[in-house]
Amino acid sequence: MTEPQVDPVAAAIDVQDLHKSFGANEVLKGIDFHVDNGQVVCVIGPSGSGKSTLLRCVNLLETPTSGRIFVEGIEITDPDVDVDKVRSRIGIVFQSFNLFPHLSVLRNLTIAQQRVKGRSKDEAVAVARRNLEKVGLSEKVDAYPAHLSGGQQQRVAIARALSMDPDMMLFDEPTSALDPELVGDVLAVMKDLASEGMTMMVVTHEMGFAREVGDHLVFMDGGVIVEEGRPADVLSDPQHERTTSFLSKVL
Ligand code: ADP
Ligand code: MG
Repeated sequence: MTEPQVDPVAAAIDVQDLHKSFGANEVLKGIDFHVDNGQVVCVIGPSGSGKSTLLRCVNLLETPTSGRIFVEGIEITDPDVDVDKVRSRIGIVFQSFNLFPHLSVLRNLTIAQQRVKGRSKDEAVAVARRNLEKVGLSEKVDAYPAHLSGGQQQRVAIARALSMDPDMMLFDEPTSALDPELVGDVLAVMKDLASEGMTMMVVTHEMGFAREVGDHLVFMDGGVIVEEGRPADVLSDPQHERTTSFLSKVL
């Protein structure tokens, strides 16, 4: 079998007629969605609308029931695809920071680099230090997660994902578990990433971030995309009653 090749001109993420059911519960009811290279696409919508499931399907943490997903031109819903290889190109950051509590910040950032990427310890440490600097936490290299604020832990989680050199980053409500005063630092790191040209899919309730940083905004409800467009347009001039109703509760 020939190795599928990354196609540099293909969309970063291309989702076609995606359906996902859990038992009798159809959670995604035909999603068409794409993210271009270098684009920041934000996804908003009420709790239970299927945002996390969509994001998890893109990383193959969930197996779609039907439909096709392409990442950089490679069909990842092809049963023969190398799942680990797909995942290694996609960084993911969750609401809960998911750091290894018994490992130092530095070790949190080096372990997968050594085990999955096969990097030497020195190389992994150098990459880790570079990414900790990027998220403003160089001085925390020897700290343990429990000694960091939630915002710092989330920035470490971002640095850890970046240390795997992903082509794109998925964020699932990365600031929802944070105290309000810690949200800004995490959003600032994400904004920097976007300005460096990182391709990003961001599930968020931060409408200010979506408006300022997002290139495209998708509103989901009940397992479908109800409305999408330029963030300023969708937020200021929603075309659907369901969007208006949702925005009236969160803005
Ligand atoms: P959102 O992220 O928009 O809040 P989710 O994608 O998490 O929505 O969930 C959408 C629906 O799918 C919910 O009804 C949820 O209960 C259901 N769901 C999500 N994951 C699972 C799972 N692993 N097993 C069964 N049901 C699930
Ligand atoms: Mg969710």
